[in-house]
Amino acid sequence: MKPLREIKSLAILWGVIVFLGLFCFLSVSFGNDKYSQMRLRMIEKDIKGRGIIDERVITAMSKIPRHLFVPPRYRNRAYGDYPLPIGEGQTISQPYIVALMTEALKLRPTDRVLEIGTGSGYQAAVLAEIVKEVYTIEIRENLAKKAESLLRKLGYNNIKVKHADGYFGWKEYAPFDAIIITAAANHVPPPLIEQLKDGGRLIIPLGSTLYFQTLTVITKKNGQLRAEQICPVSFVPMIGEVRKRR
Ligand code: SAH
Repeated sequence: MKPLREIKSLAILWGVIVFLGLFCFLSVSFGNDKYSQMRLRMIEKDIKGRGIIDERVITAMSKIPRHLFVPPRYRNRAYGDYPLPIGEGQTISQPYIVALMTEALKLRPTDRVLEIGTGSGYQAAVLAEIVKEVYTIEIRENLAKKAESLLRKLGYNNIKVKHADGYFGWKEYAPFDAIIITAAANHVPPPLIEQLKDGGRLIIPLGSTLYFQTLTVITKKNGQLRAEQICPVSFVPMIGEVRKRR
């Protein structure tokens, strides 16, 4: 028989372990719950509430933990109706704009999509929930590395990240069913038009890179291009080769 004192301290130890376990479990679940509620509100108010109807876009954005794509000090604001800084003077786009651009691409589950401007990796994750393969290019090495490691951690095995100037596209995997450029440019880089499949769609914030641009969808059909303007937007400028041309 164990002495009473030993049994007592064992009981206390177990009590402490159970209490700590319960505390950790509850704080993690309440923490997640807090973000789920913010996400739900974002979907109802800023996504569905503004006219986004593509169920695949809504489902993707309802699922993705956007708060993990922003620096820790902005986590509580991750589901707000605005862009947020992600470092190096760059931003993660406002949720509504991510939804609008994704919906405008009219994606199908079998599509292969190219994104220029990985940034935080959030837009790439939204695409990856909807299509088969996503290729994303980021010109700033640190952002490319960070996004790649987060996307890997979250289990997105259908996204390939490359550190390069997106102006030249990704020839190795071309042509693409859709191309999305998430930085402002005053012209559409010709290599991207070339790498777009016939029947494919490309979306880009087109115009002055200083203030506002026009969100423009380019469609390629029988080799002909058609442009459709959607709405005014304000994106960070595309850099690199695009600045040397035109
Ligand atoms: N899609 C991102 C946000 C894009 S911000 C997200 O979901 O978070 C625009 C990004 O485009 C920035 O990270 C910027 O570094 C990148 N960028 C600018 N010029 C580029 C270029 N020529 N090629 C690739 N990326 C570029």
